[in-house]
Amino acid sequence: MKNNKLVIVGVGHVGSQVLTDALALNIFAEIAVIDLDKEKAKGEALDNSHITPFTYCANTELYAADYDTCKDADVIIVAAGPSVQKDAQFTDRGSLIGKNVAVIKEVMTGISKYTKDAVIIFITNPLDSMVYLAGNFFDYPQNQIFGTGTCLDSARFRKIVANKYGVDPKSVHGYMLGEHGSAAFPAWSLLNIEGIGTDRLDDYFSPETPLDKDQIAAQVVKTGFDILHLKGWTNSGVAMAACTLARAVMLDEHSIFPVSTTLNGEYGLNDVALSLPCVVGRRGMEKRLAVPLDEEELAKLQEAASSIRGTMKKGGLTQ
Ligand code: ADP
Repeated sequence: MKNNKLVIVGVGHVGSQVLTDALALNIFAEIAVIDLDKEKAKGEALDNSHITPFTYCANTELYAADYDTCKDADVIIVAAGPSVQKDAQFTDRGSLIGKNVAVIKEVMTGISKYTKDAVIIFITNPLDSMVYLAGNFFDYPQNQIFGTGTCLDSARFRKIVANKYGVDPKSVHGYMLGEHGSAAFPAWSLLNIEGIGTDRLDDYFSPETPLDKDQIAAQVVKTGFDILHLKGWTNSGVAMAACTLARAVMLDEHSIFPVSTTLNGEYGLNDVALSLPCVVGRRGMEKRLAVPLDEEELAKLQEAASSIRGTMKKGGLTQ
């Protein structure tokens, strides 16, 4: 008999939060942890295993392991490699490319030696380039590989819009699309609060000041930097995004999220990974939705693709 099993690769600030959040989902019988720093992996597994006596925690088996543990994994979440941190040598996501290409090559070599069945969810930055690398250089089924992409950017967008109009962010539907990070853009043409579209929101909810789209778009991007400068790193939002995606896979929910995948001709784009709304289920990324975008949004999508290609070139992933 096989258990529901998650493997987390990399348990730094982000991966350790993924571990805690994944445990709280109460859907995994086993969670294995891999890190270059074996002591850290053991410590995180031990610390979190002592959560299990508490009432609302499943009796999940937690342990540190090597890549052979991937052989019977259902989902693998990859948060390995350095990230942008306050006062660190890496100042933006793109600057991580040189270092993290090597990390993801090592991680994918380790995983693909033992399985081609698990769904792999990437968090490592620069995210879109890492998804492209993992999905195109390792003979791993491409639909089983995706990145958290603009799920986090979209959550921040929805929260900021929700605050403006004084409603629950779960009632705000919309996406940031394109490149994860500074070049993500809000798809205003798709935004709605339970069916009320962008242009009618001010009439319905009478905010203190009228909607300023550029200000909100800038605020979404700034939020990440604010968190970084205030606490030194960012982890809570992206960890919750990854765990929500893992749950959609385990429960075959067919939920729709803006995840990063290698495109296959959508909007005329190939050979690049970026975020579009996708159906996520037990087989991974089940369907990419080339949603209708207006002209300005289409132009921003092309800009995002160029920006990601520039980063991939820096990392030697394209000519
Ligand atoms: P973040 O803030 O993104 O979590 P950290 O630097 O805190 O970044 O954590 C990154 C983690 O990834 C560290 O625990 C580090 O040991 C781990 N790591 C780095 N390289 C590898 C690798 N090649 N394989 C597995 N884990 C790795």
